[in-house]
Amino acid sequence: MKGFAMLEIGKVGWIDTERPSAGPYDAIVRPIAVAPCTSDVHTVWEGALGNRKNLILGHEAVGVIDEVGPEVKDFKPGDKVIVPAITPDWRSIAAQDGVPMHSNGMLGGWKFSNSKNGVFAEYFHVNDADMNLALLPEGMPLEQAVMLSDMATTGIQGAEMAKIKTGSTVAVIGIGPVGLMAVAGASILGAGRLFAVGSRKASVDLALEYGASEIIDYRKGGLVEQILQKTNGKGVDSVIIAGGNENTISDAVKIVKPGGTVSNVNYYGTGDILPIPRIEWGVGMSQKDIRGGLTTGGRLRMERMADLCTYGRIKPEKMVTHVFEGFDNMEKALMLMKEKPRDLIKPVVLL
Ligand code: NDP
Ligand code: ZN
Repeated sequence: MKGFAMLEIGKVGWIDTERPSAGPYDAIVRPIAVAPCTSDVHTVWEGALGNRKNLILGHEAVGVIDEVGPEVKDFKPGDKVIVPAITPDWRSIAAQDGVPMHSNGMLGGWKFSNSKNGVFAEYFHVNDADMNLALLPEGMPLEQAVMLSDMATTGIQGAEMAKIKTGSTVAVIGIGPVGLMAVAGASILGAGRLFAVGSRKASVDLALEYGASEIIDYRKGGLVEQILQKTNGKGVDSVIIAGGNENTISDAVKIVKPGGTVSNVNYYGTGDILPIPRIEWGVGMSQKDIRGGLTTGGRLRMERMADLCTYGRIKPEKMVTHVFEGFDNMEKALMLMKEKPRDLIKPVVLL
């Protein structure tokens, strides 16, 4: 079978490999819609997870089940499913401990395009199908559904981890697709004043539509200065980091109030140490909480993300700026994600 792969750090290309087979609880899925992720870019071109040889890329997919193992109860061949980027081992101690995304080791729930072949393939393997797949709701457009695998769950998790109180002031740093979903999530969770930090026009327009009250263009002056000036030096209650660079965590600590929360879903691709500013962190005693997390995966999470769409709370399909058709366009879509033209938010490939 064909797949579009990371050949080694900095190199991608097509490979031929064996079609995967299903264990007793697993499924084999044929993708019908996929999307590349900025995380694929960190993994390939920054070598952020270390080297990976001939590993098929991609972790955002909607597909049709081709085969299930004998113990799978709720799904059968022919079912259309939303596949989460994170597919934990639900029979693990970490899952019992409330962090299934870290089942069997840190980031262990992130398997596609990390520890096993991803979804940019003719077929891919899903562990524990009953616990990790969600049926595609009748009539849900593929462009919408494929945004749930990773973008919606990750952005909204950023908002959940930020401990947003009703009416509190929130800043979302980075308004690519993850940050935009964080803006939507913060809005749902009750943010009052909501700053969105970014510069691409397409993203800015959508951030305002999703609930941002003000845009901070970090290219027109430091975001710290701009947000402190707009809040009379007080800062914000919660910061969600969904973009930026190695210094963004430092910026976040500078703009959050004592007692506030910094919630990070950004993937830091380079460097060994992330800086925390000593003074603004209250010389260690600021009650400023810094949190970070891999998104929640699994079936229930996907079903809930689908409900957010079905009942009109989020409209993630509006982030899809580029739609391609056919397997051969996976490379083009991934390269777009790497190059980030100004009119791009998120590409999707329909198969
Ligand atoms: P994008 O690259 O599309 O968006 C990044 C955003 O950050 C843009 O709005 C960009 O602004 C802004 N930005 C860039 N530099 C700065 C800066 N110096 N200061 C402030 N803002 C800046 O990324 P995605 O939305 O696709 O992904 C965001 C991050 O989330 C990535 O690191 C990705 O790997 C990670 N991720 C994490 C997951 C998790 O489970 N935790 C899952 C999926 C993704 P501009 O408008 O100018 O482009
Ligand atoms: Zn991703």
